[in-house]
Parts: sequence; C-alpha cells; structure tokens
Amino acid sequence: MELTREQIDIKQAAREFAEGEFKERAKEFDENESFDLSIWKKACENGFVGTFIQEEYSGAGLGFFEHSLIAEEFWRVDPGCGQAVLSTTFGSEMIQAFGSEELKKKYLPPLVNGEAIMGFGITEADAGSDAAAIKTRAEKKGDKYIINGSKMFTTNGTLAQYLLVLCLTNPEEKNSHKRHSAILIDTGSPGYEATKIHGKMGIRASDTAEISLSNIEAPITNLVGKEGNGFHQLMDFFNKTRNHVAAQGVGVAQGALELALAHIKKRKAFGGALSRLQGIQFMIAEMATRIESARSLYWRAAYSVDKGRPDPTLISMAKWNAGDTAVYVVNQALQLHGGYGYIAEYDIQRFYRDAKIVEIYEGSREVEKSIIANDLIKR
Ligand SMILES: Cc1cc2nc3c(=O)[nH]c(=O)nc-3n(C[C@H](O)[C@H](O)[C@H](O)COP(=O)(O)OP(=O)(O)OC[C@H]3O[C@@H](n4cnc5c(N)ncnc54)[C@H](O)[C@@H]3O)c2cc1C
Repeated sequence: MELTREQIDIKQAAREFAEGEFKERAKEFDENESFDLSIWKKACENGFVGTFIQEEYSGAGLGFFEHSLIAEEFWRVDPGCGQAVLSTTFGSEMIQAFGSEELKKKYLPPLVNGEAIMGFGITEADAGSDAAAIKTRAEKKGDKYIINGSKMFTTNGTLAQYLLVLCLTNPEEKNSHKRHSAILIDTGSPGYEATKIHGKMGIRASDTAEISLSNIEAPITNLVGKEGNGFHQLMDFFNKTRNHVAAQGVGVAQGALELALAHIKKRKAFGGALSRLQGIQFMIAEMATRIESARSLYWRAAYSVDKGRPDPTLISMAKWNAGDTAVYVVNQALQLHGGYGYIAEYDIQRFYRDAKIVEIYEGSREVEKSIIANDLIKR
C-alpha cells in the first residue's frame, strides 16, 4: 500500500504542526497536567481536527485513515498533546454514523471549527472491558430522558461542552446487547459534575475525569441512533477508533526510536559512538522493523473501514500489535539511553509512561486478543 500525494502532504503538515506547537511545551503540560487550548484551536484552524467529518458538517470529508495518519504524526512528537488535540471529537464518529440530521448539523460543525469539545462516557467504576455491564440509567419521561449514574475515566470530562453517554434504556430486554442507548447530553445541564483525575501515569496533557450524572435531562431527540441499539453502535464506533489508537501506538514508538537514534549517535563508549556496536544496531533494527510492521497492519485495518468493509479481527490485530510494539520500543529506547534515560532525559521518560495507554483504553490487549481468537475459532 502506498500513500497518495494528498496523504503524504497531510502527514508532513501534521508533523510540522506538532513540531512547532507541541515540542517546546510538552514537558510543561506533562508536569502541570494541563494543556493550552489555543493549540487545539490552531489545530482546528489548520484543518487537523475532525478530518473524517463530512463536508456538509464542516469537515474535510476524508477517511478515518487520514485521521489516523495525523494521530501518528502528533503522537510521534508528543502523545499527551496529540491526545489533547485529537480526542476533542471523540464520540462524533457515532453521531456521524447513526445520528439524526438535526444532531449532525448542530453538534458536528463546532468540533471542526474549534468551538466545542466533546467526549464519550462508556466506562463506569464497575464496567470497563465489560461495557455491557454499565448501570447508568436513562428513563423516558414525556419528551425527555432523565439520566442518572456515573462514568469513570472520561476523556475531556471537565472540558467538553457535550458528552455522548452510553446508558441503559431497556434493562428488561433479555438480550444483554439490546439494553443500551447512546444519548447526547449538554455538560451545562444541572446535575452534571466532572472531577478531574490527577496523577495519571502518562498522556497527562489530556483531561480525564470522573463524572456524576444526577437527573440530567436530555430531549429524546438527543438519542443517537436507535433505542436499544447502543451496544451494536459501540462496536461500529470501535472499528473506527481502534485504528486511531493503533496509529497512536505507532507514533509513540516512532518518536521513541528517533530519540534513541539521536542518543546513540552522540554517546561515546568503547572508543567511538554507541551506534557502532553491533548489539546496539540489532536493537535499532528490531525496533524499526516492529514499528514498520505495526504501521502496515493499521494501514490495512483503517483501509478496511474507509472502504466500507470493516474487518474487526484485523482492527483488533492492529490495535493489539501497535500497543505491544509501543511498549516494547519505548522500553528499548529508554534502555539505549542508559542511566541518562532513567535520570535525566525527560522526553524518553515521558514517552515510556505515555505508551502504556495504548494497551489499555478502547479495548485492552486482552480484549483485542479475545476478539481475534473468538473469530478464528468460530470460522
Ligand atoms: C487515560 C484514560 C482515558 C480513558 N478515556 C475513556 C473515555 O474517554 N471514555 C470511556 O468510556 N472510557 C475511557 N477510559 C477507560 C478505558 O477504556 C478502560 O480503562 C478500559 O476499557 C479497561 O477497563 P477497566 O479499566 O475497567 O479494566 P478491567 O475491565 O477491570 O480490566 C482489568 C484487566 O483485566 C483484563 N480483562 C478484563 N476482561 C478480560 C477478559 N474477558 N479476558 C482476559 N482479560 C480480561 C483487562 O485486559 C485488564 O488487563 C479511559 C482510560 C484511561 C486510563
């Protein structure tokens, strides 16, 4: 597979943007667990946010593949900043695929234009990998849903203007995959409370919050898709977003490899640069090869989505493999920095901490492996 001229240009522009905007300030954001939202606005102005959103809703109408290419380049420079900027549309994939025309017109353009941030609350304290076990309840009263419950680890929970929330609407339904619905809520609604979570291991520029939902009112027109169809819509959503996470893993691995290469070329040992030693060269060769294979896999997986034939097994392979590659490569890259990596080199330390998230969110590595194996066994 080869990139088109347009895709090469998008990648290059994303790389330049990230180098100009993230590099100098990544340490500050990581230390302070904060982000400067003027960078997100600038990214919107430059057309990097919501590229997959169709043109009639102000997007560029590109594929999820291009969105992933941007993620790779952003994460290559700094994962925390990359997540802070590109997660602002998280949930819009479902609005675009299943939402009414009214919802799409109202909620998609502000995301692209730098006027609004959104998030998607699925996970709860007692329901993570087992998303079907969520308890947040939405009850229909007249022309409204009344929502009560709580959400855990919600990206952009304290920043978002609106949040898509996975709720139980049909708890009596026998089939546990037909009990859920996705409903958009306004975070300015009385009863919405978001508490920022401090002390994350990595991607600290990105906001993560615990959410309490107490008698939140949402018009029934804010239902995204069909009542009872939320879980199936979620699987469609993950087909799109898991490729994006795979691209994050490839980006953080590529960035770590580049930091390691710069270090071994300048560090002297045994009468010359570290990079002359065969043992060191083998490590570099293995890291680079694993990154390239993870990249090829996510390209194919993302392509399956954009061609309208999403392959969940391939997508799970891409996500699991990219997480595995990211964690392996940052570990090797830190090793190549020796004591300087452990003690002084902030960038590689940050990449080391950031990479782990790729193996956890949007389907942990075990969940991805279960999907792969179940499919193979069923065939
Ligand atoms: C920084 C960050 C941002 C996040 N952002 C969001 C967000 O915006 N929205 C949202 O809804 N969620 C978000 N999450 C939540 C994330 O998706 C969950 O943490 C993830 O799905 C795992 O769920 P859990 O933490 O409850 O772990 P658990 O489900 O309790 O899993 C614990 C361990 O058990 C393993 N495990 C679980 N089930 C199985 C099984 N069947 N077989 C084998 N092993 C299994 C898991 O792989 C994992 O290793 C975020 C999390 C983090 C850390």
